[in-house]
Amino acid sequence: MHAALRTATFTDSVIRRMTRVCLQHDAINLSQGFPDFDPPQELTARLAQVALTGPHQYAITWGAQNLREAIAAKIEHFSGQAVDPNSELVVTCGSTEAMMASVLATVNAGEKVAIFSPFYENYGADTILCDAQPIYVPLRPPAFDFDPAALEQAFAQGAKALILCNPSNPCGKVFSREEMETIAAIVKKYDAFVITDEVYEHILYKPHEHVYMATLPGMKERTLVCNSFSKTYSITGWRLGYVQGPANIIDAVRKVHDFLTVGAAAPLQEALIAGLQLPDSYYEELQETYTHKRELFCSGLDSLGLSYYKPQGAYYVLVDIGKFGYESDLKFCEDLASKVGVGAVPGSSFFRENVNNYIRFHFAKKEDTLKAALERLKNINLLQK
Ligand code: GLN
Repeated sequence: MHAALRTATFTDSVIRRMTRVCLQHDAINLSQGFPDFDPPQELTARLAQVALTGPHQYAITWGAQNLREAIAAKIEHFSGQAVDPNSELVVTCGSTEAMMASVLATVNAGEKVAIFSPFYENYGADTILCDAQPIYVPLRPPAFDFDPAALEQAFAQGAKALILCNPSNPCGKVFSREEMETIAAIVKKYDAFVITDEVYEHILYKPHEHVYMATLPGMKERTLVCNSFSKTYSITGWRLGYVQGPANIIDAVRKVHDFLTVGAAAPLQEALIAGLQLPDSYYEELQETYTHKRELFCSGLDSLGLSYYKPQGAYYVLVDIGKFGYESDLKFCEDLASKVGVGAVPGSSFFRENVNNYIRFHFAKKEDTLKAALERLKNINLLQK
């Protein structure tokens, strides 16, 4: 008896594996990106109420009506684009399910999907599980820009969709309006889809701004937006996200979602509405908080003499470890956890190219946690080969 072949070509998630390595060595976990601080009190208070009042039974499979209406209102508020909560939205179990359901709903077995590299590791597994073939388009260090001709080449080879993570995990790039327009023009020329991952939409550093792909001319009908509430409201464990897209494709996403999960947790859907009703000042403070964390962590890296790409958005930093002389970035991360006491993710789990000189830290942690990690990182030179 053997497991099915479709799982043979990818490993478990290295990001989540590094969390287990951190636990084993009591290392400060700057690998898997999740906060060690609480969600807004409005959300936790509402959750406590909902525990007593319900709902405790299934919500409508594609998301409770009042939650979809609140999501549509938030999308319109921030992007200026009206979305029909009854036909253009599906509530999912996090953006992980949103992405998988979107690829399953748009890409046939044997078809191709373009993915920028470096990429969030789920996308590779998503395409493989859909029996599709990824075509990787490099984002070129140090600026992580792309060659439009290389992107076009992916579509000329038949890519049916592009997965676009913006702001980008792991490199922190925010695609400019001009870059987004270049992508849109190519996608329209080849009559393809864009499947976006916009979970860091509200975690941006000035002067960078989030451009919503679905709002560019002619893109709403060919864009599936995958998003989640995990990062915006610090509720990664609630596993709540959504797909927004044109009604004919959302109809297919609903079917996939229905049979994959039936639905996201009903009490959490109800409690989440309190988050969606938070005023604009919440999002402004979120940006200020993360800007402060970025400055704290990056200036710590500067004092340690480490070079890195300063993120424009999201809460990750790719640090260059070339000077330490390791052949394996995975081994470097294992040593960093066991000997220095800080967890990071090996960069090779994000790059298609043969790259071994990056590690990824995240800084979605309390100030004290970040200071403690920087203190430990003073010993990073122990790893010099
Ligand atoms: N998005 C986070 C990261 O990249 C968490 C990933 C996960 O484990 N779901 O670290």
